[in-house]
Amino acid sequence: MTSYIVLLGPPGVGKGTQAEILSAKTHLPHISTGELFRENMKNDTKLGREAKAFMDGGELVPDSLTIAMVEGRLARPDCRSGAILDGFPRTPVQAEALGQMLARASQGIDLVSFISAAPGVLVERAGGRWTCVAQGHIYHQKYNAPKASGKCDVDGSDLVQRADDSAETVRKRIEVYLEQTAPLVEYYRAAGKLVEIDGTQPIDLVTKALLAALGAKG
Ligand code: AMP
Repeated sequence: MTSYIVLLGPPGVGKGTQAEILSAKTHLPHISTGELFRENMKNDTKLGREAKAFMDGGELVPDSLTIAMVEGRLARPDCRSGAILDGFPRTPVQAEALGQMLARASQGIDLVSFISAAPGVLVERAGGRWTCVAQGHIYHQKYNAPKASGKCDVDGSDLVQRADDSAETVRKRIEVYLEQTAPLVEYYRAAGKLVEIDGTQPIDLVTKALLAALGAKG
């Protein structure tokens, strides 16, 4: 059975953390558009240079660039039996494009998991987030601390704070989320794909709810 799973929710709610856990459990690839952009920035590609100003300002990268990047990634063989999409789609145009991409491959979205939390929680979540430089593994100084301070548990690389996790940029990202991404909740609810999960629960309980939702769909 193929499984295309979308993790929808505001910035800092834990989509990346849950996608990592789910990917390890299901062996489906974790596709984070934010991480793909950050890799492009690190490698100083044309796409990375184009995306940088938008990301630094907490704005969305234009749909055309984002959709083309995801289309390329989903065409790779490891996505043949599904994928966990973290941070995509983020606009109605992207949601339509994703539906069309999957339909062309005779596939469709199996589950949209909306991980929710009130905006006040999100600034603290993003502010305490540390990300590993090598592969983007995610930690939080309070909720998910690394075993050795400042080092990734998985690959030992240094942990850094994302430039766009400053309180000011997080507030901008939440605003952008409410304007451009939140309408997707109703879009996918109407399509009968949406399951809402309380993202303020501890990490393991969110995972449990996600796995239960996935099992119920399977
Ligand atoms: P994230 O790592 O998901 O928090 O994304 C970090 C930043 O990357 C966002 O604030 C956007 O600037 C950009 N980005 C990630 N995913 C998308 C998307 N689907 N559409 C547009 N921009 C995106």
